[in-house]
Amino acid sequence: MSTKDSSVTITELFNQGKEKLVGAGIPDAANDAFLLLSFVTKVTRSRFYAHPELTVSKDEERLYLRLISKRKDRIPLQHLTGECDFMGYTFYVNENVLIPRQDTEILAETALSFLRGSGSFRILDIGTGSGCILLSIIKFAEQYDLSVSGVAADISAGALDVAKKNAERLGISKDRVSFIESDLFSSINSSIDNKRPKAADEEKFDLIISNPPYIPTSDIDELQDEVRFYDPAIALDGGEDGLDFYRKIAAEAPDYLRESGELLLEIGFNQAKDVSAILKSDGFTDIVVKKDLAGLDRVVIAR
Ligand code: GLN
Repeated sequence: MSTKDSSVTITELFNQGKEKLVGAGIPDAANDAFLLLSFVTKVTRSRFYAHPELTVSKDEERLYLRLISKRKDRIPLQHLTGECDFMGYTFYVNENVLIPRQDTEILAETALSFLRGSGSFRILDIGTGSGCILLSIIKFAEQYDLSVSGVAADISAGALDVAKKNAERLGISKDRVSFIESDLFSSINSSIDNKRPKAADEEKFDLIISNPPYIPTSDIDELQDEVRFYDPAIALDGGEDGLDFYRKIAAEAPDYLRESGELLLEIGFNQAKDVSAILKSDGFTDIVVKKDLAGLDRVVIAR
């Protein structure tokens, strides 16, 4: 922000932005208008309210109005800023990854409750996307001096690039996390076989976590524009009944879990019964469903 070369105050610019978004029917228009203003000018909320007379440069004004017009076109806010907060950390995001949802924090929090510091606790994240779940778990574990490491797997090389960038940005060391391009378990570990049971167990995991695609194909057209046009379709589409990935994960996960290992899956609000039944038929026990803050079924835990 500057006092020179400017015509408009932050307050006026914000009001312009907000009105445009309200007019376009964008939910949370005022909030998005402010977050974009803050992204462009670095103004904090307290400074914004304390100094409504601050002015912006012509360049800032132009950039802000350009971003507002993209947001009017339903481009998600997080794609415009390239950032999304999850579990208190800021993650880089782009069009190659599903934007982290606040609802998914319950999956990360559930995983945290399973961490143990003894030995080398290993976590496998299937379909890691931005890496937000696994990387935030590793960051929390560090705070509590727990020795936790993980493998982040995704079928999308573009997603893995984002996850790697996030690991770097969060300062997670390379011996804590590795990244594998893999269609579910297909490339996870060739050494996990029954001929080398001992070596295999070291390579296996204490936790397998996943927020797989779970939207039934025919429901995708009904999702809001930000989701159906800008989240990657491969991160959403769970096949005809939305359950394809649960079937595949339930069938294969047992080979990759240690004796006392647990499987943690995010589910759609109406999938608890079906996913529990799938897990049961693949031999999982101690199946527990957890709700999110909105009171909807969100996570299934199984052993
Ligand atoms: N929860 C996401 C949504 O509602 C979907 C995420 C997923 O398919 N894993 O759009």
